[in-house]
Amino acid sequence: MTTSIDRSATQAPVNVWNMAQRQLDEVARLIGLSDSIHEFLREPKRVLEVSVPVRMDSGDLRLFRGYRVQHNMSRGPGKGGIRFHPDVTLDEVKALAMWMTWKCALVNIPFGGAKGGVICDPKNMSPSELENLTRRFTTEISIIIGPEKDIPAPDVYTTPQIMAWIMDTFSMQHGYSIPGVVTGKPIAIGGSLGRDKATARGCLFVVDEAMRVIDRPIEGARVAIQGFGNAGLHAAELMTERGYRVVAVSDSRGGVANAKGLDVKGLIAYKEETGAVAGFGGGESLNNKDVLEYDCDVLVPAALEKVITKDNAPKIKAKIVAEAANGPTLPEADDILFDRGILVLPDILANAGGVTVSYFEWVQNLQENFWEEDEITPRLKMKMTRAFREAHEKATRYKIDMRKGAYAVAVSRVAEATKLRGLYP
Ligand code: GLU
Repeated sequence: MTTSIDRSATQAPVNVWNMAQRQLDEVARLIGLSDSIHEFLREPKRVLEVSVPVRMDSGDLRLFRGYRVQHNMSRGPGKGGIRFHPDVTLDEVKALAMWMTWKCALVNIPFGGAKGGVICDPKNMSPSELENLTRRFTTEISIIIGPEKDIPAPDVYTTPQIMAWIMDTFSMQHGYSIPGVVTGKPIAIGGSLGRDKATARGCLFVVDEAMRVIDRPIEGARVAIQGFGNAGLHAAELMTERGYRVVAVSDSRGGVANAKGLDVKGLIAYKEETGAVAGFGGGESLNNKDVLEYDCDVLVPAALEKVITKDNAPKIKAKIVAEAANGPTLPEADDILFDRGILVLPDILANAGGVTVSYFEWVQNLQENFWEEDEITPRLKMKMTRAFREAHEKATRYKIDMRKGAYAVAVSRVAEATKLRGLYP
């Protein structure tokens, strides 16, 4: 059952790409993946690195670096967001693309995994600079994207407006509207109802399932959230509506906590007004890292990678960790949390609601037939609940953590498709 490939290189200090490969390696052993398929799945299918020249408001030309990585397309076209962030690296985009492959397979939607990123600081760019960057980046990657090839979407610091520019640029180049080239668009140009809150809603559905499994009441259960972007903000809102009590929240500039529960509506209005949660009056302040160790029942890391480490994992008080972010937990922290009996709902499960409703959006675009929100939410719930149960069943049966359980389901599906398709030529 074990593979003979030497993986010692993956034990080196953590780089997210090594981390993603290591997660695969562990599950490959567990499910007895053949060496050849394992080797194949360990590397991306295609990597495109582009220069993106942009005319800035000052009149100067600036050169940005961007990437689009397609990890695996055995089950369908590539799918995955585009991130605009100063810390983007090729290795990060490769990891995120691999995680998309597993995520799409886990919720069983007919996509492979892809991801894009541009090294830039969108918080310090004007709308026209952002538009110029988006249009030129789209043009540079247009040779590999398309509704049947690879479909981008929002990710960290990219918005529905940015998706609209991608759709327009690609459509103008082809001479007709092609809404299915990108998801997460504004509703007015072919976006789907429910896509904006889909990541958070999917996360809520699997947290509900997890609460049932650990036999805890939802009403009043305390939630701490790191990150207050699309995923974190909507998670706070939806979880409050459901009866959970949000006790701590943070973003990159700091956080706020109140053991009795935060006024989430007030906090959202405050964030919209000031661009941050720090300084909100309804609680004491705490920093962005401390929120992870705050006394709560459910911890939702909803920001960036590698925040739960072997140093803070022993101090986490939550019973459930729901990874709304991609890659927040390092492998050694995973083992600590598992030993401590903390149920970690891995990223490829906990944040899969976003890409699931992206799939619904793409289907609606291809059919030119739009669904009502009450058709979308139950379909999302069904997919999320089924994925939870399949991953949980594997985890329980083999006495492994939920990440490995989810990977076992997902990697097996991708391996099966890869095997069935065989080698060309
Ligand atoms: N960026 C999101 C993710 O990491 C959504 C991807 C998509 O909708 O294609 O899952």
